[in-house]
Amino acid sequence: MAILLDEMLKRTASWCRVLGIDTQFITGKSDTWLLQYAKKGKLVLVTKDMELFGRCQKQGVQCIFLKTDSREEQVAQIIRDTGVRMTFPERTRCPKCNGELAVVDAASVKDDVPETVADAQQRFWKCASCGKVYWEGSHWRNITRVYERVRALLELPQGGTETKDI
Ligand SMILES: [Zn+2]
Repeated sequence: MAILLDEMLKRTASWCRVLGIDTQFITGKSDTWLLQYAKKGKLVLVTKDMELFGRCQKQGVQCIFLKTDSREEQVAQIIRDTGVRMTFPERTRCPKCNGELAVVDAASVKDDVPETVADAQQRFWKCASCGKVYWEGSHWRNITRVYERVRALLELPQGGTETKDI
C-alpha cells in the first residue's frame, strides 16, 4: 500500500520516506487532480485539509485527516490508520524522490561526496532512482530519535527492528 501526502505535508513526506514508508508527494497539482490520482492508483491520501478530506469521503477515496502538527504523531497516525510499516534502519527511502536506498561502498561514491565526508564516513547509501548519495551525518541521530519516538507512540518495543502487524 502506498500513501499520497498533500502539498502542505512536505516535511512529513520526507520523514515517512526516511523511515522506509512508500510515500508519494507531488507538488503543483490541484486538489481535484490529487483526488483522481489517488483514486486511480488506489493510494491513501493524507491531508490536514478538512475540505479535501470531505471531498475524499464523498468520492470514495481512502483518506486520512491528520489531527496534529507534531511530525512524530503524524507519522504514527499514518502507520496506525493504514498499516504501512517502517523499515528503517534496514531499508530506507530517498527523502527527495522516494527511491529505495542501497548500501554502497565508500570507494564507489568517492567522487560524489565532499572530500571531508569521504574521509570521515564509512557507510554510504545511494538512491536507486535519482542517484543522490547519503551518509550517517549529524542528522542520523535526529532520525533515530524520531524513529524511536514514533515507535513509542505506537507502543512498539524500543530499540528493536521488528514490526508489529496492525
Ligand atoms: Zn532519490
